[in-house]
Amino acid sequence: MKERLYQITKRMQQAAQACGRNADSVRLVAVSKTVAPEAIRKALEAGVTILGENYVQEAREKFKTLVQYPAAWHFIGHLQSNKAKYAVRLFDLIHSVDSLKLARELDKQAAKVGKIQQILVQVNISGEDTKSGIAADETTALLRAIGQLKNLSVRGLMTMPPYFYQPEKVRPFFAALRGLRDEIDGLHIPNVSLPELSMGMTGDFEAAIQEGATLVRIGTAIFGERT
Ligand SMILES: *Cc1c(COP(=O)(O)O)cnc(C)c1O
Repeated sequence: MKERLYQITKRMQQAAQACGRNADSVRLVAVSKTVAPEAIRKALEAGVTILGENYVQEAREKFKTLVQYPAAWHFIGHLQSNKAKYAVRLFDLIHSVDSLKLARELDKQAAKVGKIQQILVQVNISGEDTKSGIAADETTALLRAIGQLKNLSVRGLMTMPPYFYQPEKVRPFFAALRGLRDEIDGLHIPNVSLPELSMGMTGDFEAAIQEGATLVRIGTAIFGERT
């Protein structure tokens, strides 16, 4: 585990340096969906500071066993509004907000517990109809509406493009997400600034970093193939 994390961190640093970015500007989200708590514990002891989970119920179980570690928990899966209540209690950052309905529910639940919930908006940058995420051309309107919700703090954009393990095919989508972010930041929408770009996985994280990722979500390279 230590060696794997060392190699990934080194590759992240090299990708950042190769395009003149500070290595500190990219953080690793260790994607632990379906991974047993024992393996997650090893990763936390080897220095992982952010865990990414896809399923609320699974994360709730794991959280109980791993609560003593000072890790941040990020939600990266598809979130149903009826799970918003639990998501707000568990997660420091929710990467996958893609509708006003979900944003409103998260805002309501955050208000109940006196929290400002940090979120990212997930964009379907490739426009495939099977992918979750808001369409690129609807993102600005969604952000304007989210900016008015008092208990949400929007921090950036997330995407999950098609094609696995083909970084050069995915790269244009990463560049497009960054372009969209720059465009929206330029509008200076009240309460909306987008410093974070969550993009890049095991098969393409270096390309994502070169295109501006600040959060890379890596599972397989850390924990091995999921069963
Ligand atoms: C599973 C998953 C990842 C990690 O994928 P790997 O290829 O195992 O690194 C990243 N992001 C999301 C949204 C995922 O569901």
